[in-house]
Amino acid sequence: MSTANAIAQDVRAGNRRATDVLKAFLSRIEAHDGDVHAFNTVTADHARAAAAAVDAAVDAGRDPGPLAGVPVAFKDNLCTRGVATTCSSRMLETWSPPYDATVVQAMTAAGAVMVGKTNLDEFAMGSSTENSAFGPTRNPYDLSRVPGGSSGGSAAAVAAGFAPLALGSDTGGSIRQPASLCGIVGIKPTYGRVSRYGLVAFASSFDQIGPFATDVADAALTLGVISGHDRADSTSIPIAVPDYAAALSRGVEDLRVGVVSELTGTGGSAGGALDGIDADVTERVIEAADALAAAGATVGRVSVPAVTYGLTAYYLIAPAEASSNLARYDGTRYGLRIDGADVSEMNRLTRRAGFGDEVKARIMLGTFALSAGYYDAYYGKAQRVRMLTRRDFDAAYADFDVLLSPTSPCVAFRFGERSDPMTMYRCDTCTIPSNLSGDPAMSVPFGTGAEDLPVGVQVMAPALGEETMLTVAAALERAAPQLPAPQLTGGTPSRGT
Ligand code: GLN
Repeated sequence: MSTANAIAQDVRAGNRRATDVLKAFLSRIEAHDGDVHAFNTVTADHARAAAAAVDAAVDAGRDPGPLAGVPVAFKDNLCTRGVATTCSSRMLETWSPPYDATVVQAMTAAGAVMVGKTNLDEFAMGSSTENSAFGPTRNPYDLSRVPGGSSGGSAAAVAAGFAPLALGSDTGGSIRQPASLCGIVGIKPTYGRVSRYGLVAFASSFDQIGPFATDVADAALTLGVISGHDRADSTSIPIAVPDYAAALSRGVEDLRVGVVSELTGTGGSAGGALDGIDADVTERVIEAADALAAAGATVGRVSVPAVTYGLTAYYLIAPAEASSNLARYDGTRYGLRIDGADVSEMNRLTRRAGFGDEVKARIMLGTFALSAGYYDAYYGKAQRVRMLTRRDFDAAYADFDVLLSPTSPCVAFRFGERSDPMTMYRCDTCTIPSNLSGDPAMSVPFGTGAEDLPVGVQVMAPALGEETMLTVAAALERAAPQLPAPQLTGGTPSRGT
């Protein structure tokens, strides 16, 4: 399968037509997405027009851009003008935004061709896509297992070869965890590195948009395209975008790599190791660290004590922000309306019918955490843990350039296997700390664990440390064992051809 870099290079040079590239990907989607269900919407006509425009630009001697003719899938919480943007919720099932998200504009301006909108846990709340109102996405490595979440559709689309690139959003791990479970690369950039304008808000102080790709070079290329200041997002950082591709070939000899003790089953100075992280996953992380040492990096262990409280803090702050963000779905402004005898009944009936159980649970938890009398005990305390996390990371980064941990505590699990919320929330143990701190983090495939399923290693870096993070990720990729290709088979019977 061609990478995004290879496709763009060929299309720009006139050696391949964007329309031919698109045809191949659309026929793969046609053949297999009935089984995988990566997409909520396939935008074939839109894509054909966009690919034809790329070819016309090449014919006219113009450069369509660094992603010329590269098919891309967008998570269905990214606004696309005139194309349904559902958040996999009944609430927005029929809603089409009147504008494109800034990242959608940037990808299009770079020559990328949107092939569709991908499935997610409703409003990005979940770690398996089982919370989608439109049915789950299946993992291309084993159709009886989850692809992770909440950006499970984007990860599955790339792993299944439906598009070389996808974008997702990461609030507590929703890019990195599905990337890990689907054997691909996923990046959560520094908070503010990428504009969130046109991303449907979940928890605004955590939400970031980032790329999925089959290799580190494609992820770096895409990160460069979507990064940068945007006047439409007041949290975006007004600094220049580095040449991320240049970071890939740098050596790791001068770099210090810290393996986070609390997340690798070896215990820290205060509080010890978190349980629930599977041994097969930890073993791959240790092997990854050894590979970096063999490549010349200085590798040590480091304790980041506050990561043990991350989950608890996140599951107070994120629902609190969500309860506020989701107040806008009141039957008046967006999407669904169920009429009632008066406004307040209309509002109640709309929200009862429009939101799924997990979303309702988060709204109730968040409202409770913010309520008078409980604010200090819950929300205030969680914010203090957030400060502690920042402090502990700062201390770790005084001694190390990057940190290593598992991305997900386990490989892809079976549908229904983590049905109680606490078990599901524990999927996010290793990813949440970087959302609390706002620092960049990414997942790189590194071998397989139980049942020969992919394992991802998480590389974390200090704020705006994407280049160093990519240097280490590229070194890991060079050392990683070759993953078997996904066979798109497994327990679930095919829905017919
Ligand atoms: N799994 C986490 C949650 O359910 C993270 C989701 C996300 O990053 N969007 O909140």
